[in-house]
Amino acid sequence: MTTDSLPSTARSEALFARARAVTPGGVNSPVRAFRSVGGTPRFIREAHGAHLTDADGTRYLDYIGSWGPMILGHDHPAVREAVASALAGGTSFGAPGEREVQLAEAVTHITGVDRVRFVNSGTEATMSALRLARGFTGRKYILKFRGNYHGHADGLLVEAGSGLMTNAEGALGQAAPSSAGVPQEYAALTLVSEYNDPAALDALMAGRGREIAAVIFEPVVGNAGVLIPTPEFLAALHRVRDHGALLIADEVMTGFRLSLNGATGLLGLTPDLTCWGKIIGGGLPVGAYGGRADVMDFVSPQGPVYQAGTLSGNPLAMAAGLATLEVLEASPALYGRLEAYTTALADGLRSAAREAGVPLSVNHIGSMLTAFHQDAPDGSIRTYADAARSDTAAFARWFQAMLGQGIYWAPSQFESIFVSGAHTDHDLNATLDAARAAYAGRGG
Ligand code: PLP
Repeated sequence: MTTDSLPSTARSEALFARARAVTPGGVNSPVRAFRSVGGTPRFIREAHGAHLTDADGTRYLDYIGSWGPMILGHDHPAVREAVASALAGGTSFGAPGEREVQLAEAVTHITGVDRVRFVNSGTEATMSALRLARGFTGRKYILKFRGNYHGHADGLLVEAGSGLMTNAEGALGQAAPSSAGVPQEYAALTLVSEYNDPAALDALMAGRGREIAAVIFEPVVGNAGVLIPTPEFLAALHRVRDHGALLIADEVMTGFRLSLNGATGLLGLTPDLTCWGKIIGGGLPVGAYGGRADVMDFVSPQGPVYQAGTLSGNPLAMAAGLATLEVLEASPALYGRLEAYTTALADGLRSAAREAGVPLSVNHIGSMLTAFHQDAPDGSIRTYADAARSDTAAFARWFQAMLGQGIYWAPSQFESIFVSGAHTDHDLNATLDAARAAYAGRGG
């Protein structure tokens, strides 16, 4: 495709100019601004199935899925009908309703946690789970892993991956904030270790374990690009409980995605607390945290750890989440189909890159995939430092070439893409045709 035949972006450009005048950077979440790939972010008018249509009327095959929630594809009929039916009964009550009970019953039934509390985002879920862990243990430090992102609460914006990912390397243990506005005193309560390094985790826990309230982790990392945990690292994670720390699985991205019971089910994890977001709200704003009754009963009004929300348990959001989980539960073959598509996508990308002599290393699991633009053997990228060696300029060129051919990949090297139940074999072939053209230096 030559530049002359590229679709117009005039309306997106005009909207972006208006947006920049009234919103910082023109967007309501940083990675949407295309800063790391350049060009004009597409302003999306509507989304159906596996496709987005932008303000200029151009249709794209979508691999972002709203950054994870849209596992069934956009505008799924069951979700649309559930939201419409809830809407007919009013949009917010500020008092409990049956849908909250139904979604809590579905989550406890699927995941095996005793209790769950709904909030409005993944950020609220992790922030609340950490406050709970501190209240339950009476300890003040938390431990996270470099390149893992757990939302934008102050104490979690430390070595936090994706939109914040730079090549800065701090010492393990104490770490610096990855955002202005986070006091060093807050960051000092967050210890940092290297993902997939069991010896470093064991050493930190041996030294500081009795001060640590919780270890929070992405069971499969999506926010440094996809990083898959080794069995040795998972075993070390489970050992943190020997020191009295709680183990918090942040399944905001992986929950209900890598299996019906998320990464927890797929990898045989036994966390004390789990955080969810994204899919649990079916495309509406929901987060949740849950776990053992003795821990969860520390949450107010049952216990002394305060946490509240004006719109928590919102009827529209509960309806969308419930409909999504019901479809997932009724479609046992879906996860196999998503994995088969993603594996074929990974294989196709590898061979397209190899034919063109482009260095590429693909990590994938379930319906999550990152194509790292670097010359590492497949599967060998395991840490933040490994991922950070990628050629972000080469990725940006490839991203633009794909977008020019109507394939909407995640606009950052350090993100996962998400395959949905709406992606078809035809979509797979179209993606691989576009990728071959892009690696060969054509296409946008
Ligand atoms: N935790 C993980 C693993 C995430 O990927 C994200 C968002 O991408 C969050 C937490 C924060 O969720 P939210 O953006 O809904 O606040």
